[in-house]
Amino acid sequence: MRGKALIFDVKRDCSEDGPGIRTTVFFKGCPMSCVWCQNPEGINPKPGLSFNEEVCTSPDCGNPCISVCQAKCLMNASPIQAINTSCTRCERCFPVCPAKALEPVGRWVTVEELLYEVCIDKPFYTSSGGGVTLSGGEPTFQMEFIGRFLQALKKEGIHTAIETCGFFSYRHFQEQALPFLDIIYFDLKLVDDASSLNYTGRSNRCILENFSRLSGESNVPIVPRIPLIPEITATKENLTGIARFLKKHNISSCSLMPYNPLWKDKLKRLGLTAHYNRSAFMTKTEERNCIDYFLSALAIQPLTVYQ
Ligand code: SF4
Ligand code: SF4
Repeated sequence: MRGKALIFDVKRDCSEDGPGIRTTVFFKGCPMSCVWCQNPEGINPKPGLSFNEEVCTSPDCGNPCISVCQAKCLMNASPIQAINTSCTRCERCFPVCPAKALEPVGRWVTVEELLYEVCIDKPFYTSSGGGVTLSGGEPTFQMEFIGRFLQALKKEGIHTAIETCGFFSYRHFQEQALPFLDIIYFDLKLVDDASSLNYTGRSNRCILENFSRLSGESNVPIVPRIPLIPEITATKENLTGIARFLKKHNISSCSLMPYNPLWKDKLKRLGLTAHYNRSAFMTKTEERNCIDYFLSALAIQPLTVYQ
């Protein structure tokens, strides 16, 4: 939609997405498709449908959603079956569902609307040294919009941060987003290119090159974040490789993000299939091992951050 961005959440009072008290805006659309994605509702760049069968009260509710759905993507069963891919997002079903089992994923916003929304907490940003963080999905997927939004935030004197997968056009990022950013949280997942392609759907070359250029050319602080995914990223070989890469770029600290399996519930509501099966959180021993791989590879101090 011209001039607007598609977002799927605005979370206030966040404390893990940068310094101080923050509001995090989640943008829809991502060029990658990591098999462990914590925000699978953010991957598809189009508006979507979420159906929570745990709260659906069919047939007691009388199934009003089925009668209003002209796209015929809601099927009579107990609980009902939703064919998310057929949904046209006409939004007829949302208001008639008494259980709020059907919910939209994604809404269109202008820069002015989003700015108004995040400025509600401006006094808290000021008192805590916080601000606004752009996340997703991948915020740079809507680069032109985030550039205008970041500029508007800076005009308001608000601290800005971005969480990025690093897969973007460097030139566009440099021109449109970088001048208005105070800190960059940059995901580094896999150093082996074949593994990157296999587990994230993308080669890591553009990502590593963007990281190298940003850390060498820009004065904006860059904080690498490494998701610890058992048997994929959380291996000795991968973490040692990342640590060496960081050392080469004179980076002295990074954030390790322990695996969180709660994304699996979201996946079910979106009607998507899981391509990674781990359902348990990481154990303390697994986390400790990952930290040790870093420490033994070189003198980088990993900071453990919980999602
Ligand atoms: S929003 Fe989707 S599921 Fe709901 S009535 Fe419209 S087409 Fe059907
Ligand atoms: S989704 Fe809502 S309206 Fe539809 S059957 Fe379930 S509870 Fe009823």
